[in-house]
Amino acid sequence: MKDPICGMEVGEKPKLRSGYKGKEYGFCSPSCKQSFDKSPDRYAK
Ligand SMILES: [Zn+2]
Repeated sequence: MKDPICGMEVGEKPKLRSGYKGKEYGFCSPSCKQSFDKSPDRYAK
């Protein structure tokens, strides 16, 4: 799984995750997760 914000590889089961439109996204840090949660449309594919 790749962090959609910074592109970092976060492994199969990242601790920080968000679901959006039926897909799950993983994050390397709380700040990346926060950016995604603020405007998921910008980062979700
Ligand atoms: Zn990140």
